[in-house]
Amino acid sequence: MTARPRPKTVFSTELRRVCPRCGWPIADCRCAQTREDAVPARLTARLRVERAGRKGKTVTIVDGLPRNAAFLKELAAELKRACGSGGTAGETWVEIQGDHCTALRELLRVRGWVVKG
Ligand SMILES: [Zn+2]
Repeated sequence: MTARPRPKTVFSTELRRVCPRCGWPIADCRCAQTREDAVPARLTARLRVERAGRKGKTVTIVDGLPRNAAFLKELAAELKRACGSGGTAGETWVEIQGDHCTALRELLRVRGWVVKG
């Protein structure tokens, strides 16, 4: 067995409770960072266009995706390539710069996804 980092002893009352899954104090729970969702065979995505920031930059968000870093990273790369645009992978979404709602909807439906929005 490989050695895993042991939770530090925390004396604060607030931090005394320990997460039953990872054994770290609740305030320092590691579950959210390590837990990855399985990618289902039939994916559902929510598409929306947002204008964010002071410059009113438009981004298309493919939301409601599984929390799976490898999957999201690969999807982001593929969608960026397809749209010829920049973008990033979030925790459960992929963000593509510009309004690519129509193109992305078609692209994802062709893959057999259920696309809402
Ligand atoms: Zn935990």
